Amino acid sequence: MIIKHVMLQLFFALLPFILFNVYYRDKLQNYSKKFIIITSSLSLFLAMTFSCNLNSGFYFDVRHIIMYFGVIFGGLQTGCILLIEFFVYRLYIGGDGIWTGSSVFLCTFFLSLFFNQIYKSTHRMTLVTCMAGIVLSIHPTLILYLNQPHMVTNYLFEHMVVFPLQYLIGIWLLTTLFHKAASDKALFINCSQNEKFEAISHVAASLAHEVRNPLTAVKGFLKLIRYSSLEQGKIEQYIDISLMEIDRTESVISEYLSIAKPPSKQKGKTNLSHQVQVIIDVMASYAIMSNVEIELEHKPVVPVWIIANGDEVKQVLVNFMKNAIEACVEIPQAKVSLSLNLVDRNVLLIIKDNGVGMSADQISRLGSIYYSTKSSGTGLGLTYSFQVIRAMGGSIAVQSEPSEGTRFTISIPLLDYAQETPATRIS
Ligand code: ADP
Ligand code: MG
Repeated sequence: MIIKHVMLQLFFALLPFILFNVYYRDKLQNYSKKFIIITSSLSLFLAMTFSCNLNSGFYFDVRHIIMYFGVIFGGLQTGCILLIEFFVYRLYIGGDGIWTGSSVFLCTFFLSLFFNQIYKSTHRMTLVTCMAGIVLSIHPTLILYLNQPHMVTNYLFEHMVVFPLQYLIGIWLLTTLFHKAASDKALFINCSQNEKFEAISHVAASLAHEVRNPLTAVKGFLKLIRYSSLEQGKIEQYIDISLMEIDRTESVISEYLSIAKPPSKQKGKTNLSHQVQVIIDVMASYAIMSNVEIELEHKPVVPVWIIANGDEVKQVLVNFMKNAIEACVEIPQAKVSLSLNLVDRNVLLIIKDNGVGMSADQISRLGSIYYSTKSSGTGLGLTYSFQVIRAMGGSIAVQSEPSEGTRFTISIPLLDYAQETPATRIS
C-alpha cells in the first residue's frame, strides 16, 4: 500500500520533467518560467489531491520536492505561487495537521530559497542537490516531532525511513533529470546556431569567388567603353548588361545576408516559391565551385503560401541543398534538382540528387543528433531541419539507393490547412 503511494507520488513529482520532454521535444527553445509555474502548480495539485492520510487530518505527499524544484528552476515568483496554492488548497482540505503542515511547508520554502542561492553560485550542483535532499528530507519529520511527537512515534517506519527516502530520491531525481534535459536542449540550440554559421561560411567562400565574375565582366565593358571608339548603340548595350550583372550580384549578396543574419522568432505568411528561388540563386556559386549543376525543375506560377518563419525555411533549404551538393562532389555529371508541386492541401518540395546515396541503415539514422558520415560534418543540419518541418506540421520522406542518388520529399501544409498537423514520417 505504502509502496503504491510512494510510486504514485514520485510520478507526480516527475511530471514537470515528463511534460518538458513532451512539450519541448520539437521546439528549438528551452523551458520558460511560465512552464515551470504551470507544471509545478499542476504537480502540487495532483500530489495534494492524492496524498497519503496516515492519521485523520495529517497528509503526506511530495510537496517539498515540488517546492524545491519550483524555486530552483522558476525562482522566487514560482515559490510564492506554490506557497499560495498550498495554503488555499490546504485550508480547503482542512484537518488537524493544517498548522503543522503549513509551518513545515513554509520552512521548505525558505530552505529552498537558501539552497537556490547556493545552487546559482556554484558549479558543484550534485553536492548542493544532495545537501538539499538530505536537509529537506529530515526537517519535515523534525518539525512534526517537535509539534506532534505521537505522530512520529506511531508511524516510526514511515517518518524515519519511507518519507525521508522518498523526498531524497525525488529531489535528486527531478533536479538531476530536469537539469540534464534542459542543458542538453541548450547545447542543441547552441550547436544548431553554430551549424548555421558553419554552413553559411562555406557558402560565403564560394559566393565571394563568384562575385568576381560579374566584376570582371563589368570592368571589361567599362574598359571597352573608355578606350574603344564604340557607336552609341553598342555603348548602351554594354551599360545595360553591366547594370544587369550588378543588380543580380547585389540581390544575391543581400539574399545571402538575409540568411546569415540571426534568425527572427516570428512566424507568418511565407511564400515558399520565392524562398526556393532565393536559395537557388544563393547556392548557385557553391554548386559551380563543387562542379554540380543545380536546376529548378518545376515551380508553380502562383505564390505558394505557408505559415512559417522565413529565416528557418531558408536555413532548412540551405541544409538540404548543401547535403545534396556535397553528396555529388565526386560524381561526374552531378545534378541536383528542386521542384515544388501542389498536391491536395500540401506543397511537396522535392530535392533530388544523383550523388552517393544511402543504405537502409543510413536512412534509418537520418535526423539523429550528431549523425554524420562526413569527416568535417556536424550531423546537426538534418536534426535541425526535421525539427523545423515537424513544427510546421510537415512530414519528410526519403528514397535513396547507394551510388544511385537520393530524393527527399518534404510535405508542408498550405496556408489554409496549416492547423492540421500530421506526424513526421521517414520511409
Ligand atoms: P552533415 O552534413 O554535417 O554530415 P546532416 O545532418 O546535414 O549533417 O546530414 C547527416 C548525414 O546524412 C550526412 O552526413 C550524410 O551521410 C547523410 N545525407 C544527408 N543528405 C544526403 C544526401 N542528399 N545524399 C547522401 N547522404 C545524405
Ligand atoms: Mg549537412
